[in-house]
Amino acid sequence: MIRLESDVLVIGAGGAGMYAAIAAARDGCQVQLIDRSLIGRGGATVMAQMTVAVALGEECPDHWEHHLADTLAAGRGLCDPALAQLLCENAPLRIREMDAWKVGWARENGHLKQVHAPGHDRARCVYVDFLNTGPAVSRTLRTQLNRIAAIRRIGDVLITDLVVHGGEAVGAVGLHLVSGETVTLEAKSLIIATGGLTRLYRRNSGSLNMGGDGYALALRAGAELVDMEFVQFFPIGHLAPRMIGMDPIMWDPFRYKLGGRLLNAKGEEFADRYGQAEAGNYVLTRDVATYAIFKEVEAGRGSPAGGAYLSFAHVPEAELRKAFGPVIDRLARNGIDLTQMPVEVAPIAHYHMGGVRVNASMETRVPNLFAAGEAVGGANGANRLSGNAISEAFVFGESAGTAAAARAKARGASGWNARAALPELDFLSTRGDAAAINTAALLVELQALMADHAGPFRTEAKLKFALQRLAQMQGELGVLPAGGSEHYNMLRLDWLDLRNMLLVAQCVVLAALEREESRGAHQREDFPGMLPQWDLNQLLTWREGKLSLRRSPAKQPGRTAQ
Ligand SMILES: Cc1cc2nc3c(=O)[nH]c(=O)nc-3n(C[C@H](O)[C@H](O)[C@H](O)COP(=O)(O)OP(=O)(O)OC[C@H]3O[C@@H](n4cnc5c(N)ncnc54)[C@H](O)[C@@H]3O)c2cc1C
Repeated sequence: MIRLESDVLVIGAGGAGMYAAIAAARDGCQVQLIDRSLIGRGGATVMAQMTVAVALGEECPDHWEHHLADTLAAGRGLCDPALAQLLCENAPLRIREMDAWKVGWARENGHLKQVHAPGHDRARCVYVDFLNTGPAVSRTLRTQLNRIAAIRRIGDVLITDLVVHGGEAVGAVGLHLVSGETVTLEAKSLIIATGGLTRLYRRNSGSLNMGGDGYALALRAGAELVDMEFVQFFPIGHLAPRMIGMDPIMWDPFRYKLGGRLLNAKGEEFADRYGQAEAGNYVLTRDVATYAIFKEVEAGRGSPAGGAYLSFAHVPEAELRKAFGPVIDRLARNGIDLTQMPVEVAPIAHYHMGGVRVNASMETRVPNLFAAGEAVGGANGANRLSGNAISEAFVFGESAGTAAAARAKARGASGWNARAALPELDFLSTRGDAAAINTAALLVELQALMADHAGPFRTEAKLKFALQRLAQMQGELGVLPAGGSEHYNMLRLDWLDLRNMLLVAQCVVLAALEREESRGAHQREDFPGMLPQWDLNQLLTWREGKLSLRRSPAKQPGRTAQ
């Protein structure tokens, strides 16, 4: 068994985790930064290639209160105002800090270039050209980490459970995937920065590491989850032909620049059937575009892979080259010639608005347990504005790191208790019946079930079916991890992933079933329209193997943005 100790343990090394580690070390703590994949390369941050929302006022006058007003409006009354304010107010600090660390934000005429994205009232989004935002951000943070001796970075460690003693978080246990050995991690404070859950869905923009581990870890440790029903779908995710090394949501900025035509199988522009004629321009909002594509496919007018065509073939080649820059060559290497052919696009699960409930210091209701980044729920309410997620990762990462460092210093000792870790360690050292279960088939079924029954458009019948089947699948998975503790035992890894994914899927479906209205990313075909009596947050807890849900009036913003 491997034993590790630190003042602050950060679980997950995406944008939020790396920023949290830097902040905690800056405040004088020894930090352990752990990831199930490679440090700074495993989650959504490195994949994001586009925009970062921040009220810098470089392109036109702006103030964080305007950004906040747009964020609250997009959240449809369900944002946690304190978290939303923290995000908008502190984003400029973090973006300027990243600039000083030479991330390479695009510049024009000596100022940072800011572009307009849907839902923002002005040009507010910075980026690194061309489609390089995520890689540049991750590289910059990794470079900072390398300079700080107080941060110990360890990849290939899957955190499987948190250790709680006397009602307080005191550490975690996990599996070193390379050796198969179990790991204990003692810490005075802990930060969950494990990103989102889009792997639950058949079509998604995420990576294999985004199965919602952090939500399950938090829930089992006694924390609350908030508004788990709000999964954001991105309408024009790439579907076909196969494309390697590119962001699946990359078509968006090119639609801003060039319009492009969204077509059905008959070659018709169809947006006007759903209330917004496009005529080659990009005017469809995300929810309408998602609905329109779904309905065209349902009516048998979908593209061969089950989506819609996106065509730039009417745009002169010189204009295409100017807009796409070097990306046009990367597309050519994938066999995609935009002057000659359309691509196929479809709605894909992209981001999770729900998540771990925290206060404005990023602390959960379990003392010493903090969360940051996409793992946190509530800041974006029922719908997130484009560009807010990366700002959120930086801002919440920095805040969580600072608060966790203060807590670690105040505590003195970790309060680690070996006995408290025993049930989790015993669980990891058991060997379930490998022949009894086909984890690969269960994973595929789970993703299909979530896509078909708890996707962007939901009904009571579909959600009830999903909930029932999820419970059966949990029974089929069993309670002991399949396979042994050999190195890189993929069966065991799939089993552990499924344990979390099934729990988190139940959270999404249960909350979606309970919310009998349509709001933001949660659309109930049997309850169309947003209802004032549903200005409520839904909170989930887990006790003795059972989920329970309660409602709480949504908090109202304390001040009005100008
Ligand atoms: C393709 C794509 C494009 C996007 N584009 C944009 C954009 O242009 N603008 C924007 O604002 N947002 C965008 N987003 C969203 C944004 O990138 C994410 O919300 C944000 O980066 C999340 O950062 P994070 O640090 O919270 O999580 P992540 O970056 O996802 O990092 C989480 C880390 O936790 C690790 N982890 C997970 N579980 C465990 C475990 N059990 N044990 C140990 N480690 C674990 C993972 O391996 C991963 O490295 C995009 C997302 C995707 C997928």
